[in-house]
Amino acid sequence: MIAKIAEVRRALDREEVVPYFQPLVELHTGRLMGFEVLARWVHPQRGPVLPESFISLAEKGGLIEQLMQQILRKAFVSAPILPAPMVLAVNVSPTQLLDLSLPDQIRDAADASGFPLNRLTIEITESALAQDLEMARKIAHSLKESGCKLALDDFGTGYSSLRHLQALPFDALKVDKSFVQSMTETRESRKIVAAIIGLGHSLGLITVGEGVETEEQADTLLCLGCEMAQGWLYGRAVPADRISDIVAAAPRNFPARPFPPNGDGGIASDSSLEARPAQRLAQLQAIYDGAPVGLCFLDRNLRYVSINRRLADIEGSSVAYHLGRTVKEIISEIYPSVEPYLLRALEGESIKEVEISWPAGKHNEPTRTDLISYQPAFDEAGEVIGVSVAVVDITERKRTEEALRESEDHLRHIVEINPETPWVMDADGNNPDLSSQWVQRAGLTSEQTRKLGWMDTLHPEDIVSTMKVLREALKTGTPIDVEYRVQGEDGAWRWMRSRGSPRFGPLGEILRWYGSVEDIDERKRLAEALRQSRN
Ligand code: C2E
Ligand code: CA
Ligand code: CA
Repeated sequence: MIAKIAEVRRALDREEVVPYFQPLVELHTGRLMGFEVLARWVHPQRGPVLPESFISLAEKGGLIEQLMQQILRKAFVSAPILPAPMVLAVNVSPTQLLDLSLPDQIRDAADASGFPLNRLTIEITESALAQDLEMARKIAHSLKESGCKLALDDFGTGYSSLRHLQALPFDALKVDKSFVQSMTETRESRKIVAAIIGLGHSLGLITVGEGVETEEQADTLLCLGCEMAQGWLYGRAVPADRISDIVAAAPRNFPARPFPPNGDGGIASDSSLEARPAQRLAQLQAIYDGAPVGLCFLDRNLRYVSINRRLADIEGSSVAYHLGRTVKEIISEIYPSVEPYLLRALEGESIKEVEISWPAGKHNEPTRTDLISYQPAFDEAGEVIGVSVAVVDITERKRTEEALRESEDHLRHIVEINPETPWVMDADGNNPDLSSQWVQRAGLTSEQTRKLGWMDTLHPEDIVSTMKVLREALKTGTPIDVEYRVQGEDGAWRWMRSRGSPRFGPLGEILRWYGSVEDIDERKRLAEALRQSRN
């Protein structure tokens, strides 16, 4: 329908322009925090007419002040139904920000109804600031002085938004519905919304997502840290007589947190213990720097986005030097060893504790060894946006292990060159621990020699006698001294002499047996030959 200025004037004279109320909710609880007041022209024949058909006519016809007065007056009449701290948000036209009497008009309307100005938010669109920023600033400060809150409406649709955001004392920032609605479709607009919300937070502003129609949009906004929302998902704008139903249906337990905040630059009011974003960031930074591991975050191009001091030290240059540079530039020597893991992490794989040694020194020995974990970081849509890397220096641990292994090898070597083969046995004659030399000689695996398995290698004629000596020794604790034949790998029998003594505990009990086996075959043969030559 095409209305004329004269028709709008008549509508205002007949008081046909009325406020409708659309719920404003807190995103993470879904709680009702107040309403935005939206003008409707309730045409006697056509029913409710949307503002786009008459607001600009009212502006052109010099009727906008009258329109606002009518809307405000009627809205404030309905406001007593709203329990504190619920708020009302009203829109002002760009032309009104050229009029220094605006703050007085608003104050007068509020005074007449007794509505507290600290529960009133004035929504200003960016285009309103383009005309006369200095004037807009004066008006904005005057409104703030009387206790009103200020919100920057339709953020992102105008131009030079950042300048405006900085110039006026805003409390809230409303993300335009065009972004909210395309946010779940395109990655780019999601990035824009994320950036707007981040910007709002860093300036200490509450962010409000407009035009929220689906759960998915609400979830995405919540993930991005947006505090408030408005849209058909929560309710359309309704006439005043429907407010009480909506309030009654809403949960009773409103948080003590007023909206928007007290202008102290923080999201949380004094009564809240919630950390402000700046505090949260500082806390994370402290954890980051104090962590006993090296940490960094790399973007998709494998550039350092952040790095803690420990890792910077490990890599041998300052934190600042790392930022913006690629891993390849910083640790070129070992880059080929880490690249495959980084690429896998960029594909979304989480890689735990890979051992990587740093450049080989002069004698090809690694100068350091790290245990490195690679964890992909995902955005709200599940896309990998970078890789978080954790590095633990295990060089010392490796050295100790190496030294231990060496000394063990050393000992074993000494034992192996000894012609006598040492053994250890428990108090029951089980689990003898024999050196590999003996095992080799007997042609057994070391598993086979455990328990009494070693006896299988004895000459059948020697088993009974050997068992007898062993049983006697185990019972009485007298030293073992026994001779038997053992079959070697070549199948020949060789005479052995095994001797051992027990070690006793404090109560005289046997703890363990220690002994050695000696190859006496040569000697036996000589003695035999001697005996025979004598005969
Ligand atoms: P706005 O301030 O951005 O108000 C939000 C607009 O989005 C409203 O349109 C609202 O009905 C609509 N909306 C809310 N939720 C949804 C949703 O989920 N999906 C969609 N598609 N739309 C949603 P409305 O009521 O037609 O108002 C249009 C514009 O007219 C307002 O945009 C505001 O700039 C202006 N306006 C409304 N009332 C007044 C007033 O009293 N004075 C002045 N100066 N301007 C007003
Ligand atoms: Ca608005
Ligand atoms: Ca808006």
